[in-house]
Order: sequence, then structure tokens, then C-alpha cells
Amino acid sequence: MSRVSVVKSPGKPGDEEVYGMVKKSVDLVGGMESIVKPGQTVALKPNVVTGRVTAPGVTTDKRVVAAMIRLCQEAGAGKVLVVEGAGYFTETAKALELSGIKEMAEAMGAEVVDVDRSEPVELEVPRPLITDKIRVSKRFMDADVRINLPVMKTHDQLLVTLGVKNMKGVMPKPMKRRFHAIGVVKGIIDLNKTVPIDLTVLDAIVAMEGLGPSFGPKVELNTVVASKDVWALDRVASRMMGFEPEELDYLMEAAEHGLYDPAEEPEVVGEPLSSYTHRFERPPTDLEFAEGVTVISEGACSACRGTIHSVVYDLEQMKKMGEIRDLFIVVGSNAEPPGDLPNTPIIMGTCLKKYENQGCYVEGCPPNNDKMLAAIRQVCDIE
Ligand code: SF4
Repeated sequence: MSRVSVVKSPGKPGDEEVYGMVKKSVDLVGGMESIVKPGQTVALKPNVVTGRVTAPGVTTDKRVVAAMIRLCQEAGAGKVLVVEGAGYFTETAKALELSGIKEMAEAMGAEVVDVDRSEPVELEVPRPLITDKIRVSKRFMDADVRINLPVMKTHDQLLVTLGVKNMKGVMPKPMKRRFHAIGVVKGIIDLNKTVPIDLTVLDAIVAMEGLGPSFGPKVELNTVVASKDVWALDRVASRMMGFEPEELDYLMEAAEHGLYDPAEEPEVVGEPLSSYTHRFERPPTDLEFAEGVTVISEGACSACRGTIHSVVYDLEQMKKMGEIRDLFIVVGSNAEPPGDLPNTPIIMGTCLKKYENQGCYVEGCPPNNDKMLAAIRQVCDIE
């Protein structure tokens, strides 16, 4: 039976307390000595996401990363790497700097590896669901020990992003783009079969609900969750957020594929799950994307969906959302612009170029924020 530890602080934890929480969470699943042997190279994979929005609840709390570097060093690790490839639109180096993780990690003697500027390796996927081969960071794969450090968040496509989804960051951007085309649910299952992880420590000190993974409200859970089994961790953590397993396609699909037995509940040690009564707000569906905005989406990649979220966020920051009326965005390779809309729709992205004459076409795969903002100003007639 897989074990999952849950460690909760009675209030906002200070730096030393975060270290204590991470240590306790690992001790409860066997301790660092069961994972790291003296002299080994350990690769850590935090979630740094984006160079635009960085804060607790968006990116892995750098104190959690610092605690894990310290624990690895105390266990005698010969080298600690912090490996990350940020979100699709983001220059990874910029995101690592903005998050403060680069400066902190280097000050502690760890080496920071930018997935997009280092050598990839191509791996065969065992019993593939959707892709035979996956390219990932060679430095990450060559490490003796791999530790995953995700953040607990909702996600506009998968409903949650926890340990399984966080591994996408070890792939260089062209592979991420391919995942958007082939389907992220099966893609992350293939990825996790191909890249084995020794330990996952989930940062739920500040989590995110609603418009995750970057723009939702924060939820202070003051909690760290750990497991050597990433599937067990995701099952327990999603339940802490108030999700049913049936809601989460990637967990259901992984069970069907034999990656865990849904009849066997993970053993939870530490804080009981009954302490977590807050039901996380679900990410908005397309029809309720934002007041005045309707997204007509069929087969849209998360890259384009992320752009829409990001543009809505920009408009909110500019205090322009109140002026948005009847904004229709058509997106995704299988979407079609309806003929009876009360306003000119925005036709978003290269895959819909065939409909460029049926609305305000915005080129790009995905289009960038500036082009989308210009189109929105035009169709909604705002300054
Ligand atoms: S333009 Fe089409 S193919 Fe390109 S990212 Fe957007 S939805 Fe995907």
C-alpha cells in the first residue's frame, strides 16, 4: 500500500517551520536516508510556471525548494540540481529569476538547470498510450535521484495540477507543444511512466482555486504532502481539494491503464483528511469564462486557453473588463464560428485560418497577448 504523509501547520509557517514541515513529511514516508545516498546527484523539479505572475500559490514556495536542497545536502548528496522548463510562453531563465528560486538555489550551492537551454534526451515510452517517444532534460534523467516539488492548484484543462502534471516541466518547449497537439491527459501519463520519480513533496502552504494555474484566488492550507508514489499523492491531494476521482480524467485513465488500483486506498499518515473541508472552486468553464466573454472552444490547446486567461487577467489589471460586452472568441482546431452572433467574433490562432474572413482573425500558434488585446479593443470598441 502506498503511503502519503500530510503535515499541517496551525498558522502561516515561518522559514524554519517550513523546513520542519518538509522534513517531517519526508520522515513519515521513510526519511531522506531511504531516498538519497551519500555522493549521489539529486535533481529537484519545482513548478515555476511563468515569468509574468509569480507568488506563493502560483510557483513552488522557494522555502520548500530550499528545505529540500538542505535535506539533500544533510543526507550527503554529492550534487543538487534544480531543473525546470517554464510554461509555454515564458523564457525559463526569466521565470527562474523572477521566482527567486535561482538566486536562492545558487546561494545554497545547488546548480540551476534551464531545460530549454540544456541537452535533451529522447526516451522510449513503455506501453505507450499516445506517444512512442518523449524528449526530456538529460540532466534530469541522468540524476541518481529525482524529486518532484509541485504546487497544489486548480487547472483550466485538467481541473487540478499536482505531482503528475508538474513533470511536464522537464520537457523542452517543442515537446510541450506536441503534447498540446496529441492530448495532455494521455501525454502526462506516458511522461510519468517514462520518467520515474523517487519522491514528490507537494507545496500546499498556499494553494490556488478557481482560475488556475496562474490567475486564481489563493487558499492558505499551510500544508505539505509527501509520497514516494506520485499517483497516490495526487489521489489524496485532489481529495483534500474536494475533487472526486471521477472528475479527474487523468486519474481515471491512469487507473484503467493499471498505474494504480482504485480499490486500494493509499495510507494517509499525519494530519487526517477530515481537517480539509474547503471545497476548491472549480476552474470556470468556457461559457462562464468571465463576465461578457464567451469562448467557443473545441480542441483548443492549453497554450491558446492560457493566452485567453492571461489576456482577461491583463484587462482586469487595466480595469477594462467592465467595458467588455459580447466578446466571442472562437478557438481550437475543431471549433467553428457560429453564424448568428451579436458581435464580430475573434477567430483565434493559425489552426482556424480557414475562417479568417468570418471574424477578426488573430494569427499565431498561439497568438500572443498583444495581438489578442488589439483584437479585443477593436471588436469591443474600447480604448
Ligand atoms: S492556434 Fe490552434 S493549434 Fe495553435 S496553440 Fe492555438 S489551438 Fe493549438
